Amino acid sequence: MAQSPDQYFDELYKADTDLERVNASIQAAGMPDISVAPGYGRLLTFLVSLSKARSILEIGALGGYSGICLARGLPTEGKLVSLELRQEYADIAKANMASSGLGHFVDYRVGDASASIARLREEGARFDFFFIDADKENYPHYLEECILLANEGAIIAADNTLLRGKTIDEARQGPSVLAIRHFNRTIAQDPRLTGVHLPAYDGLALAQIRTI
Ligand code: SAH
Ligand code: MG
Repeated sequence: MAQSPDQYFDELYKADTDLERVNASIQAAGMPDISVAPGYGRLLTFLVSLSKARSILEIGALGGYSGICLARGLPTEGKLVSLELRQEYADIAKANMASSGLGHFVDYRVGDASASIARLREEGARFDFFFIDADKENYPHYLEECILLANEGAIIAADNTLLRGKTIDEARQGPSVLAIRHFNRTIAQDPRLTGVHLPAYDGLALAQIRTI
């Protein structure tokens, strides 16, 4: 096959100058090229808008690619809190959000996400939409924390559920792989969630928190 299905569909869309700017800045800074896939970026905008979310928590900012996609779905008074371990990444993400005209939406919290989440809980913060995309070993922990920070009916999205094939390779038993397998089972089976897994690109999990 000349093209993968992912490539075929991606090429139907016209160039996105804001996201191209993010990719160029990631390359220029020597950062890892691990932004969310273009089709999932479009899906994030779509879901934020469809769900009428007003507050979003993103875990893992990198250069702001997914931050732009998430913020594009928000209403004018919406808010995005983005957690990022590295100050230099948060600075680049912030500059990219500003260049895209979305800087006013976002509040970057720099440091380990678990510590930032603990602080958000102390502040009594609540969110309508979550995007989990940081260190894979902590996905199960982040999922529990998101459920505690969620408004009724909130949506959780999580990237890289396939770990470039490692998730479905039984020979792989490292901590990230085991954590992602556990996370994927929880999305599928936990009675608190209505889950769905998308297998395109590197895999995306979606869940809505059930209202009792
Ligand atoms: N969501 C981004 C990509 C994130 S890549 C996008 O699609 O555009 C993963 C990011 O998580 C990296 O920027 C990395 O620095 C950050 N990260 C890794 N471990 C972390 C931790 N413990 N706390 C907060 N951020 C972390
Ligand atoms: Mg990712």
